[in-house]
Amino acid sequence: MEAIPVLKKPIQYVKGIGEARARSLEKLGINTVEDILYHFPRDYEDRASIKKVVELYDGQPACFKAVVVSGMTENRPRKGLTIQKLIVKDETGTAVLTWFNQSYLKGSFQPGQYYMFYGKPARKFGHLEIQNPVCEKLDENLKETGKIIPIYPSTSALSQKILRSVIKTSLSLVNNQLQEFLPQEIREKYNLAEINYALNNIHFPIDKKSFEFSRKRLVFEEMLLLQLGLLSIKNKISVDTHGICFKSIPDTEDFINRLPFSLTEAQTRVFGELQKDMESSKPMNRLMQGDVGSGKTIIAVLAMFKAVKSGYQAAMMVPTGILAEQHYNTFGSLFEPYGIKTILVTGNLTQKQKKQAQEQIYEGCADIIIGTHALIEEGVQFNNLGLVITDEQHRFGVRQRAVLASKGNMPDVLVMTATPIPRTLALILYGDLDISIIDQLPPGRKKIETYWIEESMRERVNKFIRKQLEEGRQAYIVCPLVEESDAMEAKSVEKHAEELQKVFAPFKVIFLHGKMKGKLKDQIMKEFSSGKVDILVSTTVIEVGVNVPNAAVMVIENAEKFGLAQLHQLRGRVGRGSAQSYCILIYNSDSKIALERMKVMQKTNDGFVIAEKDLEMRGPGEFFGTRQHGLPDLKIANLFKDIDILKEAQEEAKQILGKDRELSRPEYKSIRQRVLERFSERADEISFN
Ligand code: ADP
Ligand code: MG
Repeated sequence: MEAIPVLKKPIQYVKGIGEARARSLEKLGINTVEDILYHFPRDYEDRASIKKVVELYDGQPACFKAVVVSGMTENRPRKGLTIQKLIVKDETGTAVLTWFNQSYLKGSFQPGQYYMFYGKPARKFGHLEIQNPVCEKLDENLKETGKIIPIYPSTSALSQKILRSVIKTSLSLVNNQLQEFLPQEIREKYNLAEINYALNNIHFPIDKKSFEFSRKRLVFEEMLLLQLGLLSIKNKISVDTHGICFKSIPDTEDFINRLPFSLTEAQTRVFGELQKDMESSKPMNRLMQGDVGSGKTIIAVLAMFKAVKSGYQAAMMVPTGILAEQHYNTFGSLFEPYGIKTILVTGNLTQKQKKQAQEQIYEGCADIIIGTHALIEEGVQFNNLGLVITDEQHRFGVRQRAVLASKGNMPDVLVMTATPIPRTLALILYGDLDISIIDQLPPGRKKIETYWIEESMRERVNKFIRKQLEEGRQAYIVCPLVEESDAMEAKSVEKHAEELQKVFAPFKVIFLHGKMKGKLKDQIMKEFSSGKVDILVSTTVIEVGVNVPNAAVMVIENAEKFGLAQLHQLRGRVGRGSAQSYCILIYNSDSKIALERMKVMQKTNDGFVIAEKDLEMRGPGEFFGTRQHGLPDLKIANLFKDIDILKEAQEEAKQILGKDRELSRPEYKSIRQRVLERFSERADEISFN
């Protein structure tokens, strides 16, 4: 059997996977044998240590061996409910097993027969009871007990048992014949498990040690491939000398002097980094990260000024129409004195307006183009696009960024993110980009006072908000996430706004949600930012970028439903003016993790600290939660816990590429192929493709 082709076979090749199961597996992103082997457990249950009955504790799931004492009994406390009971014992004690509505189990247990059981014991009325235990006859080949059992990310259509069984079958299909693709030298240097061993033991670990050993190998592998891809992309750009050399613009100083504030040191430094990139013949490919409110926008404005003054067009893509409109308004007045024309392209334009805008862009009468996704539509063609900026880059895919850039002739590219992560991590995860960090807030910013409160304190919160309104401030109230549908979310916002209007009359309440037409949204934002309206009730559509300095109160309903990064973003909508600002998290949950998040929010305003906590607090089940940071999806690496392995893998990737930039040596052949597979969407950006 040839091992490699087996990996690439469709999952139906695995015994026991028919059409229906294949479809369910596809929903989990599993299409090939390789995919299923790399569908890693999100958690494990320790059913390996076998307890005595006397050692079973209330609420602590455990595995134990016992003999059936007598036949199963059944009673019917009410219509539609039957309860099955079975008494089992060992030499240390007795336990009662119970099931509900499972009459078919009668007769499947023989008194005197030994079984292995696994379940969560509960002490009830003086006896030990286990509901719905896992049971296996002792004389059988034990599958579900007596070992460490993997728990997989799954869907309701696929039970854990089925997933376990198909993964087991897939492992026996490759039968330890997978070809190792990490060179021996690297495996020895970092003490990494062999591939077959690692895959077997990540799914069905013999013990904790073999699990850790296997996991390390797979984390390293994941990171090494990622780093090789990212660094090769960077390599390709760095040898390119066909980029635009923008000019040094003496007017820049005048432009900066006209601003109502002076730049912070961090802003000046970062702008310097951008200028250097822009003036060089290598195309810029830079990430600018900085906390909410650190003043990234003005740096983008300065870069655009430089581009336009050098004779090029500059385009800025933002995730929402509201944000585009807001930027359009502020930029317009900054650029006008210099005869620079700014235009807006969003989905709200009428056909006629759109056509007109497209003409101006194509003719080159428009210098600065601000827009949403509408910018990457085919109809938008530039005259000489020299600078591309994407704001809040985590909202865009790499592809969308590339499409916009492809509308120019090797333009400089700047991406901005307000979800900052620590520098070491940024260097690893954004390995394809150069990084600038604005690590300083403008002076005079007051800490946003943050409190988390429970429902019972709502009256007091309302009083507090009223007082703020009386002092002339405005407030945002963010409604809970409604996951079922946008329509339901819209309804809940409307209803909430109605109630609040009653509570806060005569102050004016207005509402905003994602289902509204773009024009209406913009109009509502205008009314709020002009101060005509006092309270804006909204969904998270206001999360990104919105800037209304007079708003000093942010209330977040059902704060437990939001992740830390999102809470921090939302809070960043206030604290933008001179007044003391407040963030009130209304909290309604027993979850320990959610409470921990509230405490982090209360304690710090620093986005970098919050990001770090966020990574730290992710459970093992949240391997996939990186999307909100705009980071690549990782199957196994944990960005906080595994930082040392990540650094090692990055170092190794640099060394490999230093020796063999194109990965053309025979020992890298399989690695090279894997990198290209992983980066199939960006294949054209990779140096060795
Ligand atoms: P973000 O980094 O979140 O995009 P913005 O660019 O929206 O932040 O800036 C937040 C606010 O701070 C804006 O009102 C902006 O005008 C203001 N600002 C930016 N730089 C400075 C500065 N150096 N001094 C004072 N205020 C500044
Ligand atoms: Mg350049």
